Amino acid sequence: MSDTEAMRAPGPPEADVESAWWWESLQRDGFLLPRCRSCKAFSFPPMPACPRCGGSRFDRVAASGRGRLYSWVVVHMALHPAFQAETPYTIVAVDLDEGVRIFGRLREGGTPTDGASVRAVTYDANGVTLLGFELEKA
Ligand SMILES: [Zn+2]
Repeated sequence: MSDTEAMRAPGPPEADVESAWWWESLQRDGFLLPRCRSCKAFSFPPMPACPRCGGSRFDRVAASGRGRLYSWVVVHMALHPAFQAETPYTIVAVDLDEGVRIFGRLREGGTPTDGASVRAVTYDANGVTLLGFELEKA
């Protein structure tokens, strides 16, 4: 790998047959979550079967985007050279109001605290729409 290749941002997330719709809808429609048609449970990431009941049919429902911080990590050493200029940045684990735990980058809002309220935001990273979170103002 040349230095130029090493500095180029990694490509877009690799979507599989189960998650392709989610990435497409994130850019087009916003943040959707799969909800099982049998037991009505939300799940993430998109999977072929419901982790709760095994059902295989899902609705795609607009997520509230609201949740609470479960945990976070502040990244000081970039895992890819393209991210070096962005350090330090914070990756958060969020328990959404829908009962789903999801990960993303903390975009705004200051210092994270245990259980803090957050809301989901979408943002552009080199032409790819990604999901991140902002701390709610108290
Ligand atoms: Zn189910």
